[in-house]
Amino acid sequence: MKISIIGTGYVGIVQGACFADTGNSVICMDIDKKKIHNLKKGIIPIYEPGLEEVVKRNVKDGRLVFSTNLKFAVEKSQVIFLCLPTPQSEDGSADLTHVMEVSKEIAGHLNEAKIVVSKSTVPVGTIEKMRQIFENSGKYNVQVVSNPEFLKEGSALQDSLRPDRIIIGTSDKKTAEVMTELYEPFVRTGNPIIVMDEKSAELTKYAANSFLAMKITFMNDLANLCEKVGADVEWIRKGIGSDPRIGKNFLFAGIGYGGSCFPKDVKALIRTSANNAHPLRILEAVDRINEDQKKVIFTKLKKHFAGKLKGKTIAVWGIAFKPQTDDIRDAPSSVLISHLLNEGVTVQVHDPVAMPNAKKIYGTQLHYSKSAYAALKDADALVVVTEWNEFRKLDLRSMKTFMKTPVIFDGRNIYDPKEVQDAGFIYYGIGRKSGKE
Ligand code: NAD
Repeated sequence: MKISIIGTGYVGIVQGACFADTGNSVICMDIDKKKIHNLKKGIIPIYEPGLEEVVKRNVKDGRLVFSTNLKFAVEKSQVIFLCLPTPQSEDGSADLTHVMEVSKEIAGHLNEAKIVVSKSTVPVGTIEKMRQIFENSGKYNVQVVSNPEFLKEGSALQDSLRPDRIIIGTSDKKTAEVMTELYEPFVRTGNPIIVMDEKSAELTKYAANSFLAMKITFMNDLANLCEKVGADVEWIRKGIGSDPRIGKNFLFAGIGYGGSCFPKDVKALIRTSANNAHPLRILEAVDRINEDQKKVIFTKLKKHFAGKLKGKTIAVWGIAFKPQTDDIRDAPSSVLISHLLNEGVTVQVHDPVAMPNAKKIYGTQLHYSKSAYAALKDADALVVVTEWNEFRKLDLRSMKTFMKTPVIFDGRNIYDPKEVQDAGFIYYGIGRKSGKE
């Protein structure tokens, strides 16, 4: 099939590569000239394990090309996927400017009937608005489909090659058949392709992200209670996670969810619910609690240093919003870092892959260390923000020699408090019994 992907970001490049890998002819289009120029030279714009190899193989075999020309991408394809940003507007709703503007442009370039698919996360009713744009242009029949994306950064390629499910929102039987044909190679193990109406598909995406955000937030709030009553959230996680109705995933307490999706999607669903006279109060609480949770480590730091943070040196391990990605959009690290900088703290950071992105935001305000241990030099404390695997095993004896004072704030509960304390460190976790509060 001839496909074009409009918006070659985290979602677009991965999906484009996967569709090419199953034998389709794919044009990945973007307005960012530098990104397309680099992709043409084989430079992949994001860190995503395994992606480079798939992109290069398909470029070499001629199934994947890159372009900045929307007209070319539209004219040459039967199915057009929009993988455009839908960032948060000031009032919390999803900003649909990119999706709507590009839909209008596509309508102007139509040369035959097409299928236009939104992989962008869009609120209920957006597909209908897009359909009206194409109907008003009146030239050719355009079927508009909601096909929300569920890939996770860090495992995006595997998620796309072997998705848990595919959601196709269309009321048109023929369109559903074309979409099913396109996705069949990815679900050969029997995972479902679920065809539903457009509105249900749009809402499914928000429901999934909001539910996961709620699960994390429940554990974070419970962890804070654990500190008050002297319980350990890690035991509770194990205790409840073994119940299959609850499940083991997304029960890890930490410093709040972040990233380019959960915060904005929770806020957008809150807006949708309020606009439809049915405020989802449970999500309002989730959003509020999460904002507070991002400050938890800073509060602990401030208490530890008796309010005197000015002039201290703090090592921060991890800037990315989660491991295996270089994405720092809306990462909890940003809340901690900005509080520390405001207090006049010297911040020494290390992240295995996210430092180039951090430099674009923080410039010379941070000290960037080549290794995790280099960031500890003369530090008054270490804060672990992102649970990269390489941070999991500590050489506590060496660390003590690098640091000015042996204090660890474990924002992801990845260490055994007793082991760390036995080595002479002061340990703070999130809702841990033997750590300090
Ligand atoms: P992104 O910011 O990484 O990529 C978007 C790309 O679109 C950028 O390269 C940008 O240059 C390009 N673009 C902007 N305007 C354009 C235009 N007019 N024409 C062509 N290209 C244009 O965004 P992303 O993370 O890939 O997310 C895209 C959508 O997918 C969002 O709605 C997001 O919520 C959703 N989503 C993201 C993820 C994720 O993990 N990143 C997962 C599931 C769903």
